[in-house]
Amino acid sequence: MPSFSRLIDSAKARYWTQRGTWVYDNALLLLLKCLWSNVVPGLSPFLSCRSGQEPECTMASSNTVLMRLVASAYSIAQKAGMIVRRVIAEGDLGIVEKTCATDLQTKADRLAQMSICSSLARKFPKLTIIGEELVVWVDPLDGTKEYTEGLLDNVTVLIGIAYEGKAIAGVINQPYYNYENNEKQQFREHRNEAKAGPDAVLGRTIWGVLGLGAFGFQLKEVPAGKHIITTTRSHSNKLVTDCVAAMNPDAVLRVGGAGNKIIQLIEGKASAYVFASPGCKKWDTCAPEVILHAVGGKLTDIHGNVLQYHKDVKHMNSAGVLATLRNYDYYASRVPESIKNALVP
Ligand code: AMP
Ligand code: MG
Ligand code: MG
Repeated sequence: MPSFSRLIDSAKARYWTQRGTWVYDNALLLLLKCLWSNVVPGLSPFLSCRSGQEPECTMASSNTVLMRLVASAYSIAQKAGMIVRRVIAEGDLGIVEKTCATDLQTKADRLAQMSICSSLARKFPKLTIIGEELVVWVDPLDGTKEYTEGLLDNVTVLIGIAYEGKAIAGVINQPYYNYENNEKQQFREHRNEAKAGPDAVLGRTIWGVLGLGAFGFQLKEVPAGKHIITTTRSHSNKLVTDCVAAMNPDAVLRVGGAGNKIIQLIEGKASAYVFASPGCKKWDTCAPEVILHAVGGKLTDIHGNVLQYHKDVKHMNSAGVLATLRNYDYYASRVPESIKNALVP
């Protein structure tokens, strides 16, 4: 299956050496093992039997379904990222206000959503049947407000997969990753000075499976002892600012997008994502949560409750978001009681 080979390539890419040879490392071996083994304990065997094509109900086949879904989500998110770039290039964003001036929807949100949903429906016609237990949470464009303001590297496409209410696999496409480097690259190309190299690649796809790991980026940590908080740029209020202040931060980053903020955590730019307010939805947190958990981080609401992702769950994360790669307890212990009392799960 072509899309599956992309996952392998992405896992391999992390282990490309200077000498130009592939190093078949643990990650790749684990990835292959995942196909045949029990990565997600309890993933119901009937997932793959419902199609009526597999005579045997085995745990191995259910994991194959999961990996097929992740592999498809990878290429579907890439395609959605291209749509996000195309709408900007065409110049008509088609902005409409949803609930207020900071809650927007653009033509890119609509087209990416249509593309993701129709591709998923085509590739997995049985998804609605297994939807009772396997739920896909889609944010076709996370960081819409920033997208309309030209802060393009804040934007991501999020596809999260939950099984029995637990987020287990996720894909984040960042359509404008490297876009400043890429502009420089285009400039160099103009002057016939193009250099091949990572700068030339616009956009990237990060993916992860619980128990397997996360790929498509280089894991980095904030220097020990530094408390750098990342929080909302466009949806702030007194609860949000009070909670950030209570963390006694060395620095505060105000950026758009839940996906973008989780990328900051895994790439050593921020130590905690603190959002003490309703506003963020399940489709904002599902894929990012998996990527963070797959590398040993933790994402909860502001009380420390694990988020649920079954199909009937309330969409709104009413009690906010608290996420860290390391030192979760430091930040959790500093959330003021008054803020907890104001945010009912
Ligand atoms: P932010 O950190 O502000 O970019 O928010 C992360 C995600 O939650 C984005 O998809 C926002 O659209 C959504 N979000 C957060 N707060 C609100 C709000 N008050 N109204 C609508 N959407 C929100
Ligand atoms: Mg969003
Ligand atoms: Mg969105």
